[in-house]
Amino acid sequence: MAVHFHEEDLPADVLAPGPVAVDTETMGLVTHRDRLCVVQISDGKGDEHLVRFANGSAYDAPNLKAVLADPARLKLYHFARFDLAAIEYYLGVLAAPVFCTKIASKLVRTYTDRHGLKNLVEELLGESISKQQQSSDWGAPELSEAQREYAASDVRYLHRMREVLVGRLEREGRMEIAQACFDFLPTRARLDMAGWADKDIFSHE
Ligand code: MN
Repeated sequence: MAVHFHEEDLPADVLAPGPVAVDTETMGLVTHRDRLCVVQISDGKGDEHLVRFANGSAYDAPNLKAVLADPARLKLYHFARFDLAAIEYYLGVLAAPVFCTKIASKLVRTYTDRHGLKNLVEELLGESISKQQQSSDWGAPELSEAQREYAASDVRYLHRMREVLVGRLEREGRMEIAQACFDFLPTRARLDMAGWADKDIFSHE
């Protein structure tokens, strides 16, 4: 159980086969303005890998890109819409197929409007995580221990949460509609980047 820090790419062959949990840290929420600083990835076996990109990076990360683009590897996210856009914009790969714990939560936890990662980890797994470093400077020359631990914790629970959420989606008969939503997420991310970020093209207006 360790957090591994890498510069500019993932080493080869550090991940077990199967689904990977993925998250990103950026300079902000405007993808084309706010550069990608960190990609976190975990195979769910207890280790997390942080890949740090420097200011001015060429984002030439063949090992990481190969994992992200592998159509045989399911990618687990919490709010995939944002990460898919950042990854496609900066790394040039579509990091699908997708399972999104936030979408799954919205489809089954209809008794609450609290769908943040912290809420979900607490309710589904009975553990607590800190979101204190969420709005920190991910472009700093050195990432602090607190930042590294925070970044790692964002991918630490996604495999276990997927198990619980799939059980609930099946119980409520919503697995099929969830899957259709996951399959649409790359398109939703592309609409964000193409200028429809704040528009619901399905609404009458
Ligand atoms: Mn994060």
